[in-house]
Amino acid sequence: AKEHGKNKYHLYSRSIQASIDRRLALEVQLRKALQNEEFLLHFQPKVDIGSGRVVGAEALIRWQHPEHGMVSPALFIPVAEETGLILEIDKWVIRAACREVERRRTLGIACGSIAINLSARQFSRSTLCADMAEMVKRYRLQPGDIEIEITESTVMGNPAKAAEILQGLRALGFTLAIDDFGTGYSNLASLKNFPIHTLKIDKSFVQDPAMVRAIIQLAISYRLKTVAEGVEDQETVAMLATMGCDIIQGFVYSKPLPLDQFIDFAHRFPPG
Ligand code: C2E
Ligand code: CA
Ligand code: CA
Ligand code: CA
Repeated sequence: AKEHGKNKYHLYSRSIQASIDRRLALEVQLRKALQNEEFLLHFQPKVDIGSGRVVGAEALIRWQHPEHGMVSPALFIPVAEETGLILEIDKWVIRAACREVERRRTLGIACGSIAINLSARQFSRSTLCADMAEMVKRYRLQPGDIEIEITESTVMGNPAKAAEILQGLRALGFTLAIDDFGTGYSNLASLKNFPIHTLKIDKSFVQDPAMVRAIIQLAISYRLKTVAEGVEDQETVAMLATMGCDIIQGFVYSKPLPLDQFIDFAHRFPPG
């Protein structure tokens, strides 16, 4: 029995070691990726239910790994968050999105606002607002050019601090959205303490009419816009339209697209 227990312990520690090794390897690779500019943004169209037009896009990071090809953010963002590398990655995303807004303005291409995702770590950093103010200046951003998506759990981690930072970002002209709304444990009434514009209904319950109705009602009473994400079929679009949802983001219209394809899409949509 003793022998058995020893083996078990051995196996256990070996598998932990293996997972630490994998993690370290990934961390090293992520650092390299930042240096070698292996990241890029894809853009998923957001469509206004009322007008049927593209009103903007969510920028989603992609990692073009030299050997492994395209790596999903679902795989590397959690590791980046644990190691703190997410701060560098977010910085890259912010720059890339702002540069794109400026480029379009110069070329006279209109295709709405770009939404970026900011991780929870940004909200424990005192210079976030100052850094964003610098971006506004450098890229001559106009109010509404950039929408910032933060998850419900980010704001609920430290509600007072989050409210203060969000005030600062709003004053700079950024549009603010709560991402993955409904997945957290938030006291819905506390929403009124956050100076936000939009609720994004998480794709995990876009299929659940009672839940969707409740969130949209809440949004209406707080005068917030709603974006439903992960919408994959026309039936769901119709249901959401009836309930008063404002904007749809999902495979029913388009997957996240490389930049040029997104601009093409925005100008051809609605088709006909
Ligand atoms: P998220 O912010 O909730 O992004 C929405 C995810 O849903 C995207 O996955 C998108 O491709 C996917 N999606 C959109 N419509 C549909 C649909 O109709 N059906 C299905 N099945 N999926 C749909 P993606 O691009 O793999 O990103 C996963 C997560 O990684 C994001 O979830 C976000 O938490 C994180 N992430 C992505 N890009 C960034 C970034 O630039 N910075 C940070 N900090 N996190 C990011
Ligand atoms: Ca998001
Ligand atoms: Ca989301
Ligand atoms: Ca999510």
